[in-house]
Amino acid sequence: MFDPKTHCVVVVGAQWGDEGKGKLVDVLAERADVVVRYQGGANAGHTVVIGEEQFVLHQIPSGILHQGCTCLVGNGVVLDPETFFTELDRLHDRGVTTSGRLFVSDRAHLVMPYHKLLDAASEKSQQLGTTGRGIGPTYEDKYGRRGIRVGDLRHLEGACDLLASRVERANQLLAVMGAAERASLPQHIELLERLAPRLVPLASDTGLLVHRALRDGRRVLLEGAQGALLDVDHGTYPFVTSSNTTAGGAAVGAGIGPTAVDGVLGVVKAYTTRVGNGPLPTEATAGAGEELRRLGGEFGATTGRPRRCGWFDATVVRYSVRVNGLTGLAVTKLDVLDTFSEIPVGTAYEMDGGDCEEMPAEVRMLERVKPRYEVLPGWRKPLAGARRLADLPPEARAYLDRLQDLAGAPIRYVSVGTRRDQIIEV
Ligand code: GDP
Repeated sequence: MFDPKTHCVVVVGAQWGDEGKGKLVDVLAERADVVVRYQGGANAGHTVVIGEEQFVLHQIPSGILHQGCTCLVGNGVVLDPETFFTELDRLHDRGVTTSGRLFVSDRAHLVMPYHKLLDAASEKSQQLGTTGRGIGPTYEDKYGRRGIRVGDLRHLEGACDLLASRVERANQLLAVMGAAERASLPQHIELLERLAPRLVPLASDTGLLVHRALRDGRRVLLEGAQGALLDVDHGTYPFVTSSNTTAGGAAVGAGIGPTAVDGVLGVVKAYTTRVGNGPLPTEATAGAGEELRRLGGEFGATTGRPRRCGWFDATVVRYSVRVNGLTGLAVTKLDVLDTFSEIPVGTAYEMDGGDCEEMPAEVRMLERVKPRYEVLPGWRKPLAGARRLADLPPEARAYLDRLQDLAGAPIRYVSVGTRRDQIIEV
């Protein structure tokens, strides 16, 4: 993706998340100087496999596994400081050094324990299938202008005053919601007092760091979490996450202008999955779905929840190409389809007997669409060893060609396994 004219690349999930963005960012980070997370929080889970080792990263950008890479947690992220440091300690234990190359935006909002209590209480009534990590309530507070930001910790006394009023408000809400739990102010104060001395030294104007890196001709990767169909504006509302996952959110969440972005890579699975509730038009029948889940290891990296599985949905990916302005696609997990003799691809939707070419805005309509399928022949050979397009069997190449035609964006990468080297650059 990087070339003399392309210095700033966004990597986004182009379906419902879990497309393998972590692996792609890890691969691309080899050529990047800076990697920035721009939205979401500890509800995301990127899995990166290096050799025999597996790293699951929730809040720290996947670029951290490359020693030369500076990693930034952007202003658009909501940061859970406790789990952030747990993750960091785990990396340190495994020999990854981060000193001087990991910074957190001083404008990023903090996820507090009371946000998690509110999340659990509202999930009971709303049933959106959230991860319960407090992300939604933290964004609500951000937009309600009640948030506590990383930079606030520079003046701990003031931050504790803010905390007192926020905890009181949270407890009022919990009472109204009929929840039994209450947030404890002393526990919250203890948390901030304990973590502020570690967090404040990392706090920085990360947008400025990105700006300077680009000015100096360095390569920057903006790493999205979740996927386009979970975007709060463009996703299957209300079964969405609470931030803008799409590429437009990358500029805002990283603190740079949109004109700084040169390319957008959309990561898509060779099939489709989603966690949580909400419509999934190309959901496979129970048997095939179970097979995809087993072969693809489709269980959430954050919650361990089984993912719902289905076939490639071209309507979703075409929509994603449009709302993200994708300049390229990375198709992951092609190897998961190795054993299927026939592979259905959802080419378009029908609704009420007519065509439905674009993603409907309302989930009620999306629940009514019927995918039109084209069935492509499988290749029935293991792809794990392929490193060039020419190594792929003709059926696999034909499958990719068809996805590319249907999606309307060029395929730039094909991933055929979990490991870093199991990638084909097209
Ligand atoms: P992310 O949040 O988009 O990074 O996705 P996750 O990490 O939640 O899920 C992707 C999963 O698929 C991880 O377990 C990866 O190791 C795995 N993965 C990524 N690419 C491939 C691939 O090409 N083939 C296979 N079999 N697994 C892959």
